[in-house]
Amino acid sequence: MYKFITREIKRKEVEEIVCNRCGKRIHMTAHGPEEDVLHVEQHWGYFSKKDGECHKFDLCEECYDEIVKEFRVPVERREEAIV
Ligand SMILES: [Zn+2]
Repeated sequence: MYKFITREIKRKEVEEIVCNRCGKRIHMTAHGPEEDVLHVEQHWGYFSKKDGECHKFDLCEECYDEIVKEFRVPVERREEAIV
């Protein structure tokens, strides 16, 4: 015989993603963010001036497009199969 106990479990969930560049709020749906974002997380190492620091930011697609336009070397692109 199983005896059951009811427990409340608190879970941390992403409610929205805020673009670090423009402040746009991207809400979450049941399937993920309502639009795609670029998430960057860099753990800076010994050969940097930020050794031991972790930097994270998110960019909406419009801000991503604006930033990569400034690249001297263009972003590599390839078509990916849609699953
Ligand atoms: Zn943005």
